Amino acid sequence: MGCRVVRQKGQMLRIVRRPDGSVSVDATGSAPGRGAYVCGAACARLARGRFARALRAPGVDYAEIVAAVEAAVGDGT
Ligand SMILES: [Zn+2]
Repeated sequence: MGCRVVRQKGQMLRIVRRPDGSVSVDATGSAPGRGAYVCGAACARLARGRFARALRAPGVDYAEIVAAVEAAVGDGT
């Protein structure tokens, strides 16, 4: 979603807006809700400004989501 590079789904990290409206990194890749995919921390930083629209979840602090992605994949990708 950030860099538009197409990768295999298994290499992507899913960000999910759950039915209760909360947004988090989906470690399982199959949580219910609306999802957006990023392929790494840099990708998440690029996508940060687009998460609200992609997930239809404005008002969420996406800096936290980016930080969670960085924690999950490491900062180098
Ligand atoms: Zn990417």
